[in-house]
Amino acid sequence: MKILIVEDSRSNLALLTRYVEQFGATPITAETGMAAIEAFTSQRPDLVLLDVVLPDLDGFTVAKRIRTMEKVSEWTPIIFLSSLGDDAHIEEGITAGGDDYLHKPVSEIVLGAKIRAMQRLVMMRASLLALTRKLDAANQELIRISSSDGLTGIANRRFFDEAISIEWRRARRHSNSLAMLMCDVDFFKRYNDTYGHIAGDDCLRKVATAIRTNTERPSDIVARYGGEEFAVVLPETSVGGALMVAEKIRNAIRAMNIPHSESPSGRVTMSIGIAAAAPGFDNPPDDLINAADKALYRAKHEGRDRVCRADAA
Ligand code: GH3
Ligand code: MG
Ligand code: MG
Ligand code: MG
Repeated sequence: MKILIVEDSRSNLALLTRYVEQFGATPITAETGMAAIEAFTSQRPDLVLLDVVLPDLDGFTVAKRIRTMEKVSEWTPIIFLSSLGDDAHIEEGITAGGDDYLHKPVSEIVLGAKIRAMQRLVMMRASLLALTRKLDAANQELIRISSSDGLTGIANRRFFDEAISIEWRRARRHSNSLAMLMCDVDFFKRYNDTYGHIAGDDCLRKVATAIRTNTERPSDIVARYGGEEFAVVLPETSVGGALMVAEKIRNAIRAMNIPHSESPSGRVTMSIGIAAAAPGFDNPPDDLINAADKALYRAKHEGRDRVCRADAA
């Protein structure tokens, strides 16, 4: 343990140095306020014993400077040692950032006890910080779990609902176009009936991966909307851009060539509905979702394995 002793009286300094050594700590000494700040910066002591009356800066100023040098997570105990022991000085010392105020001359026993009390606080604070860090990590993990889909690992419906309303407001603020795709696996009930639920789950994971790898921008959001339905939010994207993304996804699903004997095409395919909201819109995101849904319905009716766009959004 390193203890910075700030004291301009040579005899007091020698005495305090001996006390600190006898306590089993390593003394660092400074005889002026400026020297104290320099020593604090270069040595980073674990505790500071700080005289109030010094030849240059007073102890209160030194304490204030030390507090501004510390990061939010740091705290070095400061104990004032002074012959000025009236209430006003004690109050000023604590306000300046001191943690205790001892009246000089201070006995070795009292000083040792005070240092131990501070050490105990430092340890309690350290374990609190460690606990806080653990809680932060656990919270992050909870947020991740609560916003992702257990089967596919992509965002879930909950995340999608929040994300689309955030993107909606952002698009309105910046007068940008916001597009979305509603994607639905074709004849998926038959797929499950033919190959079983385990194979069905496996197929959904592959489909999710294909959608995600074919949406390139970091701002694009891919979510599992429900059973075999996936929603994609494309910020700052027009209908034209959304059409391109949708065709890419549709082709990627086809290209995986997942056998589906009960589908006319013989493989797993996907139908996609597109909608985009132009600048100046003021209807809620539900309208955009409904428009994409309607377009998807049309894609199904027109024969599946295709992309349809909403008439107007
Ligand atoms: P369409 O081409 O019109 O979309 O027909 P479909 O059979 O895909 O549509 P429908 O909505 O009738 O059936 C969807 C099926 O998706 C029903 C259910 O068996 C299956 N499904 C939904 N969620 C899951 C899941 O998590 N795992 C598996 N294996 N199947 C699922
Ligand atoms: Mg002094
Ligand atoms: Mg469906
Ligand atoms: Mg389907």
